[in-house]
Parts: sequence; C-alpha cells; structure tokens
Amino acid sequence: MIACVPENLATFAGELRARFAGRSSVTVDAPLASRTTLGVGGPADLLVEPVSEADLAVALRFCHQHGLPWRVLGRGSNVLVRDGGFRGMILLLDAAHFGRVERTGSQLRCGAAARLKAVAGSARKEGLAGLEFLEGIPGSVGGALRMNAGAHGSWMFEVTESVRFVEPSGAVLEAAAGDLQARYRSCDFLAGRVAVAAVLAGRPAAPEAIRERMEANARQRRASQPRTPSAGCIFKNPPSVPAGRLIEELGLKGTQIGCARVSEIHGNFIVNTGGATAADVLRLVEHVRTRAGGAGITLETEVEIIGEDSPPTRMRHA
Ligand SMILES: Cc1cc2nc3c(=O)[nH]c(=O)nc-3n(C[C@H](O)[C@H](O)[C@H](O)COP(=O)(O)OP(=O)(O)OC[C@H]3O[C@@H](n4cnc5c(N)ncnc54)[C@H](O)[C@@H]3O)c2cc1C
Repeated sequence: MIACVPENLATFAGELRARFAGRSSVTVDAPLASRTTLGVGGPADLLVEPVSEADLAVALRFCHQHGLPWRVLGRGSNVLVRDGGFRGMILLLDAAHFGRVERTGSQLRCGAAARLKAVAGSARKEGLAGLEFLEGIPGSVGGALRMNAGAHGSWMFEVTESVRFVEPSGAVLEAAAGDLQARYRSCDFLAGRVAVAAVLAGRPAAPEAIRERMEANARQRRASQPRTPSAGCIFKNPPSVPAGRLIEELGLKGTQIGCARVSEIHGNFIVNTGGATAADVLRLVEHVRTRAGGAGITLETEVEIIGEDSPPTRMRHA
C-alpha cells in the first residue's frame, strides 16, 4: 500500500483524537531526539500516546486505514532517528496503564512501558532470581522483547513465558514466548506489532543473594561502558569476534566525525559528544563498517535506524 501522509497534519490529528475513548494525546511535529538516549534526529509527523489498549487499537486501525507508516518507541535506547524525522506516526506507551509490574507466584506480569530497572528491582524485592541481568539495560519491557535484549549471559526470551500484543488490525492477542521464535537481538514477530505486556518468570531466592549479583553486574557495566549519550552497542556481534574487540583491533577507538565518536571505553559504542547529528553518527557507522569489511567481516547494526535524511516539503493550504 502507498503511504499517504496528509499535508494538513493538524486536521488528521483532530480526526484521530475524536476517535479515542480515553484521554490519549496526539502531537503534531513532535521532536524525537530528546526521546532517544543518543539524542539525535528530527521530529515525528504525529506522536501518539495512547492511555489504554483500546485507544492503541484505534490508533493502529487509523494507520491501517490511511496507509500511514507507524513505529512504536519505548525508552529510545536502541533507536537512531535520522535528521529529517519520521513521516508517519510514532506510538509511545508511556501511560501508567502500560507500566505496571505485578507478582503472581514466581511470575511477574509487566506492562510494556515498565522500565527494565524497575522490573529487576521488583524481582529482587519479591525474592525472584533470574531477572538480575535486566537491571542495567536502559530500556522498557516492550523494547527488550522486540530486541530480545540480553546481558551477562542471559536474554529476554529466556525469562519470558508469554507476550500480549496488538495486531495492526487492532486485535489484542496473547502468545506463548516459545511460539515467537526470538533470536539473537531480535524478535522479528514483534516488528509490525505492539507488545503491551509480558509474563516473566523468576526462581525463588534470597533477596540478598539477588542484590549481590545485581551489584556485581552494575560494577562490570560501569567499568566497561561509557556514560556519554549513546544507543548502546551500535553493531551486532558477528559470529567470529565481538564487534567491540574488532573495532578496537582496527584502531578505530576515538575516531570522530562531527560530534559523533567511537568510544575510547567500548569500541562498539558510538557516543554523542554534544550536538551530534544523525548524519554524523551514520557517517561514522559507515566508516567503521567499511574498515571491518576490509578485514573481511560484515557488521550489521543492532540499533534500529528510522526516518528520513531530509525534512518533508509540505504544501501549504490556504
Ligand atoms: C548505555 C546503554 C546500554 C545498553 N546495554 C544493553 C545491553 O546490555 N543489552 C542489550 O540487549 N541492549 C542494551 N542496550 C540497548 C537497549 O537498551 C535495549 O535494546 C532495550 O531493550 C531497548 O528498549 P527500549 O525501550 O529503549 O526500546 P526502543 O529503543 O525504544 O526501541 C527498540 C526497538 O523496539 C521496538 N519497540 C519498542 N517498544 C515496543 C513494543 N512495546 N512493542 C513492539 N516493539 C517495540 C521499537 O520499535 C524499536 O524497533 C543498551 C543501550 C544503552 C544506551
């Protein structure tokens, strides 16, 4: 289907607002840079924050009906928005409804907007082991499901029992995690769907032992990762060598284009030293990729790159 982004976005936004049952918001030309940890990129045509599954379904059906491209944004810690912004609708699950974490037995039912740090903290308080690795990943449950986020030898789908999601048609469904065929840093099934909640499983254990593991993980992270704004690991690890080590061995640590720099602390992090543009970051990505290619290794980005290089040229209506 050919996407039809209307020239008059305000009218389009009003039409959508009128369809919501709840107080869901619609913002036109909404800046996205501040909603990502890397802090680069242009605005979204429409930014929609649904307050309920019902309103989320309305927004998805609206996109479907108008052929409008859409993406869902979690905490923006694995996304690079291009400088021209995103032509279409960005969905943000920020409402309280999507942020709940509730215990049932040895399981936690988590809303997609729940921060991974909060999930790990709840698991510790409840004496549930196995979720410690989530503590230092600066994302949400929804983003972690889509990316099959992992750290310290564990990954999201290893601890996920089931996922509740909304289809582009607006249908709300639930599936066993094993049926979603997640792989290294991706659950392809969730591209084009919106995860709204997940059931995570822990193992009963003493909170003190859990706390110690979380602290050890945090120490390791502090020693090995930069604090300057970034999107985490920019490349997936190729089969033969960790991307960070490869980039270090190629002598690329500290390489800078504009205000984007390959971190001296971790070769697989590109940091925004202040005022970087998406173009700076993307040129640096290509530079690193070319050098890796010269060494016979193909690097694939882990970070999700969305949007356009140039801003839209919109017609004015009298
Ligand atoms: C300093 C730093 C350290 C990091 N360390 C790690 C690490 O150790 N391990 C690791 O795996 N990652 C790491 N990351 C990357 C990132 O935090 C994870 O990928 C995280 O899971 C992304 O979650 P998010 O909510 O920020 O998702 P976003 O960045 O907002 O989105 C990522 C992708 O998920 C999709 N998405 C978001 N929400 C939903 C939803 N509800 N339903 C369907 N799709 C959705 C988006 O459309 C996008 O495609 C790190 C990032 C930073 C900045």
